Amino acid sequence: MLLEQLEYFTPRWVEVNIDAILHNLQEIRRWVGPGVKIMAVVKADAYGHGAAGVARALEEAGVDFLAVTALEEGIELRRQGVEAPVLVFAPLIGSQAGIAIDYRLTPSVNSEETARLVSRAARFRQRCVPVHLKVETGMGRMGVSPSAAVELAAAVAADPWLELEGLYTHLAAAASGKRSDRRYCEEQFRRFCGVAEALAERGIPVPLRHVCNSAALLAFPHMHLDMVRPGTLLYGQYPVGKLPRPLRLENPWQLKARILQIQEFPPGASIGYERAAVVRRRTRVAVLPIGYADGFTMEPRLRPRSFWELLRAWGKAFLSWLWGKRWRETVEINGKQVPILGRVAMQLCMADVTDVPEARVGTVASFSARRTAVSRALPRLYMRASRPWLVSSWLEEEIAREREKEVRLSEGT
Ligand SMILES: *Cc1c(COP(=O)(O)O)cnc(C)c1O
Repeated sequence: MLLEQLEYFTPRWVEVNIDAILHNLQEIRRWVGPGVKIMAVVKADAYGHGAAGVARALEEAGVDFLAVTALEEGIELRRQGVEAPVLVFAPLIGSQAGIAIDYRLTPSVNSEETARLVSRAARFRQRCVPVHLKVETGMGRMGVSPSAAVELAAAVAADPWLELEGLYTHLAAAASGKRSDRRYCEEQFRRFCGVAEALAERGIPVPLRHVCNSAALLAFPHMHLDMVRPGTLLYGQYPVGKLPRPLRLENPWQLKARILQIQEFPPGASIGYERAAVVRRRTRVAVLPIGYADGFTMEPRLRPRSFWELLRAWGKAFLSWLWGKRWRETVEINGKQVPILGRVAMQLCMADVTDVPEARVGTVASFSARRTAVSRALPRLYMRASRPWLVSSWLEEEIAREREKEVRLSEGT
């Protein structure tokens, strides 16, 4: 029912298998053991899976903490009814501190300034606010330097409006297998432990010390401490790099769209903008409602870090030019990989379905894309036990309206 309605409203969506995410959570739990808490990172719209739906499911499964980068991401979770504690990584500025407190979000203290800001906003509201102190140990991003961290932590612990609930840091190169990078991470951890030990010596308790992202929780089991902060692993992927792979991960994510039109073109016909593709045979061309504005074929542009990486990038570009055909984007239709023809347009693309004779208008195609780049405007359809569980909100409203209409029609007859 829900699925048919979805097809009616929008022929393109991201299917998110909640069971797979919960399975991956179980796998992480098994790996870190029962003594270690889990903070599920749901920033960037849960890495493109839709933050609210994913957070609700994780909360139901008893995850200890959630985390986002930005204040507004935390607000969205609260507005969608998520009750679990949510840590905000980014430093709060100006009136954000008060807003965070009003939404019961847990601020990071990234500097003396943030501490003062949050304390003032807490006093104004006559509420004691738990915070996590972020130590900058070598990521080169945000946090308090180890030399200043002990004093600031002591000040936070002594502040009647602040509760020092957590102490954390972020590793810069946990996924790299290189010995120099591993040593660097160990040094970061040593600096962090220095701060934690100094606080223990001064009798300042910190219940939640956490260091590990996905890569670190795999590579450095001795760094698990009180809590780990997986993102990537929850979503069924191993971080890129040389890492142990002890978990059986399941993929929860699939971008899908239905074919809107199929036409046959004779040899020599050009397909799409700039006539970038000219077909050599009689070709059945399917139009699909996914383009670069939806995030398809959008990749971050990263500057090569070494001459070797530069050569590799050149090599790839050269090969894709030389063997254009083999390097074309593909989509999967009825279990077959078929090529995208010509340029991907803003909201449409064309696929060659000559070899999928059973393809019709309405047949579903599956796309690969960078998940965090896929537009939030595409509805997320959450599946549980292979059945639709939830769709993103505006669609839910539309579907409810449709149902009402149906009821009224049936009453009228
Ligand atoms: C994104 C992020 C994580 C999770 O990283 P993954 O590599 O996806 O597991 C953990 N901690 C911080 C501070 C982050 O920004």
